[in-house]
Amino acid sequence: MKELKYDVLIIGGGFAGASTAFHLAGKGLKVLLVDSKPWNRIGDKPCGDAVSKAHFDRLGMPYPKGEELENKISGIKLYSPDMKTVWTVNGEGFELNAPLYNQRILREAESKGVEIWDQTTAMKPFFENGFVKGAVLYNRRSNEEVAVYSKVLVDATGYSRSVRSKLPQELPIAEDLDEKDADIAYREVLLTRDDIEDHDYLRIFVTQKASPGGYWWYFPKGKNKVNVGLGIQGGMGYPSVHVFYQKYLDSYAPDVDKSRLLVKGGALVPTRRPLYTMVWNGIIAVGDSAYTVNPVHGGGKGSAMISGYCAAKTILNAFEKGDFSAQGLWDMNICYINEYGAKQASLDIFRRFLQKLSDDDINYGMNKKVLKEEDLLEASEKGDLHLSVAEKAMRIIAGLGRPSLLMKLKTVAEYMKNIKQLYYNYPRSPSGLQIWKTQVDSLISEFNMNISK
Ligand SMILES: Cc1cc2nc3c(=O)[nH]c(=O)nc-3n(C[C@H](O)[C@H](O)[C@H](O)COP(=O)(O)OP(=O)(O)OC[C@H]3O[C@@H](n4cnc5c(N)ncnc54)[C@H](O)[C@@H]3O)c2cc1C
Repeated sequence: MKELKYDVLIIGGGFAGASTAFHLAGKGLKVLLVDSKPWNRIGDKPCGDAVSKAHFDRLGMPYPKGEELENKISGIKLYSPDMKTVWTVNGEGFELNAPLYNQRILREAESKGVEIWDQTTAMKPFFENGFVKGAVLYNRRSNEEVAVYSKVLVDATGYSRSVRSKLPQELPIAEDLDEKDADIAYREVLLTRDDIEDHDYLRIFVTQKASPGGYWWYFPKGKNKVNVGLGIQGGMGYPSVHVFYQKYLDSYAPDVDKSRLLVKGGALVPTRRPLYTMVWNGIIAVGDSAYTVNPVHGGGKGSAMISGYCAAKTILNAFEKGDFSAQGLWDMNICYINEYGAKQASLDIFRRFLQKLSDDDINYGMNKKVLKEEDLLEASEKGDLHLSVAEKAMRIIAGLGRPSLLMKLKTVAEYMKNIKQLYYNYPRSPSGLQIWKTQVDSLISEFNMNISK
């Protein structure tokens, strides 16, 4: 078998892998990125394709332009289950042609020296003396197997986790996922019969009946084109996502022309706190493979880009130090937690609460403004739900009935704050990981018990 050596081997060229390559490019390292798909399909995966503009600004990523940008977004309209209450949350974003944008980021990285092989699959990682040392690749273009050795391998393989899942199971980075911590999502892109009203606003329909544990979305891709779909919580024994899609499509997207279907497909989305450690000796995980998705709204492209940014920064530091051990790469965890992970953990708590609410509770809560649009915006931007909000609401609600809902909200706010704090106290070295993990796990089980009462 042919043997090659690179400094960094990135497996997977989706948003996470592409942004890792983008931030590493031109910095003097020999980098190879591989993806199983052919060039023109990289980045083509079932997705709502909506990403907040704030992510691009914060990371210095280029804005989508030309055909990469299908629609400019001004905000979100959030509908209660009975559709009687509609909250408008303003905020700029992009509705992307995701493959085109993704491929442009890869081309920019390539133009600065990153080598990219399409149609190339990582078959299995090399694991020697406790270190990941590279992987065996199968290149369909040349029909050959190649052994690639690396100082750092980046697992950017998406939900499949197809590299780190093949490592010895006792390694912390091989951590698996509870099915209930994932959503099964399906979407179609269709043309509409008429012009879409307020087509610069995304629509989100919260409904346990039509999408238990998730929500329906209607994301305009212009005046006459829409990405419509839903997610439901996994591991709950619900009927298939397709059953819900067929049954409720007319309720949430009555204007689509079913004979003009452009794309369809489904996939899984992790909806939990990030992987307890995103690194081990010689390896870093990014994007869906490291569970970086926002647990409440399921958006993972922005946070995949954040993880790519942190991975590149960590790798450059590791090369300066010449230390590729878990300790040498540990800054990845700290960087990601500070940028997004602590908020994500707090939203994991919020998500658990939301998934237990009945449609009745949600109608009531939205209608009576138990929580308000600005609280929701703050929870989603910062992962904070202020106790003052819960307490204020408590006073209102006390006069209206349903005190149990408000008691729960207070508990939620407390646990959100506590878990965030725990994440900010993330251990400074791998030796503290086990104790910290036990603390997080017990906080979550305690919350689950409290909220089920
Ligand atoms: C239906 C649906 C709707 C969604 N809507 C939104 C949304 O509106 N906004 C948003 O921000 N997020 C959304 N998400 C989540 C978002 O799509 C993901 O979080 C994001 O795309 C993850 O990017 P990634 O690079 O980590 O993984 P992926 O995009 O999955 O990329 C992984 C890449 O790795 C390659 N690969 C895998 N294994 C191997 C291997 N062994 N060898 C070589 N290559 C390999 C694959 O070919 C793929 O190209 C949605 C998800 C779903 C399923």
